[in-house]
Amino acid sequence: MKYDVIGIGLGPTNLGLAALLEEVSSTKALFFEEKESFVWHPGLLLEETTLQVPFMADLATMANPKSEFTFLNYLHETGKLYLFFSYNEFTIPRTEYNHYLNWVANKLTTLQFNSRVVNVQLEETGYKVSVLDKKTGKEKQYFSKHVVLGTGQRPSIPVPVKELWGNRVFPALQYTFKKEEIVKLDHITIVGSGQSAAEIFLDLLEEQKYHNYELEWLTRSPALRELETTKFRLEMFTPSYVDYFQNLSFEKREKGLSYFYQLRNGINPETLDAIYKKLYHRSVNFTDLRASIRLHSELESIEDGFIVNAKHLEEEKEFQLKTDAVILATGVKANIPDWFYQNFSPLINWENEQHFKLNHDFSLSFTHDHPHHFFVLTDLDYSHGTASTNLKLSVFRNQLIINTLLEKDVFKIEEKTAFQLFSSHSIR
Ligand SMILES: Cc1cc2nc3c(=O)[nH]c(=O)nc-3n(C[C@H](O)[C@H](O)[C@H](O)COP(=O)(O)OP(=O)(O)OC[C@H]3O[C@@H](n4cnc5c(N)ncnc54)[C@H](O)[C@@H]3O)c2cc1C
Repeated sequence: MKYDVIGIGLGPTNLGLAALLEEVSSTKALFFEEKESFVWHPGLLLEETTLQVPFMADLATMANPKSEFTFLNYLHETGKLYLFFSYNEFTIPRTEYNHYLNWVANKLTTLQFNSRVVNVQLEETGYKVSVLDKKTGKEKQYFSKHVVLGTGQRPSIPVPVKELWGNRVFPALQYTFKKEEIVKLDHITIVGSGQSAAEIFLDLLEEQKYHNYELEWLTRSPALRELETTKFRLEMFTPSYVDYFQNLSFEKREKGLSYFYQLRNGINPETLDAIYKKLYHRSVNFTDLRASIRLHSELESIEDGFIVNAKHLEEEKEFQLKTDAVILATGVKANIPDWFYQNFSPLINWENEQHFKLNHDFSLSFTHDHPHHFFVLTDLDYSHGTASTNLKLSVFRNQLIINTLLEKDVFKIEEKTAFQLFSSHSIR
């Protein structure tokens, strides 16, 4: 059987695409996910953590508020509308978002789990997609007119980590799986400057009620940065800004990204407040705080015996810490499979040596014309800006993709999505 579209990876982005597609067309679609069932970043589903975007950034609302797959319909069908009404907040618990995504996944018939896509090749009539069935170990080929790569991101680890340290030095995304073991140790170090580092630090501060470890947080930042949420700043996360950014020259886009980094990687003010309050309450008894936050501090290496070598960036001084475990909340990078580079590098246009060129609708720009689109939903920063990978805009991306796939404007993209005018061509 030949499919119209095959999706690779099932995070919120491709799950949203699967949901919207199922509602608006009879497109033959299939989405592969290597995990055995749907789950969203389970290693960081901590109690009382919330999404950093409003609940309206669900899988459907911004495309079609009347969709069956909205978060409000999830609340309605699970009997939670009144509770949410009184909760009276826009940001929902991350665990609830995960439940919502599962609820959507369970309604869809186009998802296939335990299936790792191990190769995709462009042929004359479309794409040949090779899939490893993780249960049987057998490989099977599927054929599709178009594909969508939604393989997300993977941890970015700044220093060499030896395999034998496994349970003692690990990325933040594995935190909840390793927590039980590390809290029995004497000294835990967290490295990183963003929300995940702050959440883990807070969680381990709480856990010190039951365990006696020392806690250390190393961040390169000169100050703990709050997430910027002013209304005009939020307009940078709109289709209007993405359009503007995408039309800039590559050099201008590259430059603009450092500004976005500040906007995207701040810490929720509530998380910072909670950490401060916890430390303050601890300090009133004049006892040892058992926790410290080291600013300007960059991790340089980890030695056997868990010696952390670090550098104070402003004083330009190196220092060492003895620890028993290191949690690396040091960011993520695009998870692009090797077969992508091997098979597609010679066929596509590149912005520079590292970054492939994408069209406005997130499809690859091929060097020769053919009717088979290859959409990419990760590593978009250099083409569409950091904002475009935010959950707020994942529905916008999917709207553009569906419009291209179905060759008509199934979804109308609102024209005026910001008060600020970003381009000299903007019309008031
Ligand atoms: C803890 C956490 C909280 C976040 N909170 C927010 C937030 O509040 N707001 C926001 O805007 N962003 C947030 N993000 C960032 C980002 O929006 C999320 O990471 C989001 O999950 C990205 O969605 P995705 O669908 O692109 O990729 P992912 O969710 O990473 O999903 C990709 C999927 O592809 C699968 N896969 C990979 N390779 C293959 C293959 N070859 N074959 C089959 N399957 C494959 C993976 O198993 C994975 O399930 C958060 C990130 C983290 C880690």
